[in-house]
Amino acid sequence: MADQKRVIWVCPLCRTVVSGGGSIKKVDVCDICRSRPDWEALPQAVRDEVGAMADAGDVNNAVHRLRDLDHNRLDPWTCTLMVAYQNRRNSSGSIPRNAS
Ligand SMILES: [Zn+2]
Repeated sequence: MADQKRVIWVCPLCRTVVSGGGSIKKVDVCDICRSRPDWEALPQAVRDEVGAMADAGDVNNAVHRLRDLDHNRLDPWTCTLMVAYQNRRNSSGSIPRNAS
């Protein structure tokens, strides 16, 4: 137990402050940023639908919908991280959605 030193660091990509056990590597990115390749590997239709829910702030339902569309192959935490990634990416930024 004495070995459980808290580590706090800032993700280089999104500036989120991460804290956890001593196993976190400081050169790494946070879990949410790490989920980006998974998210980008999803079919566009899935990202559109789930992304729209995430954008609307409906994060819980977005996670459920993502798991549905994925037929529960991904674990819930992975889905949560992907939705969080999408949610944050749009709320921080400049990526237009549904621009036609
Ligand atoms: Zn990050």
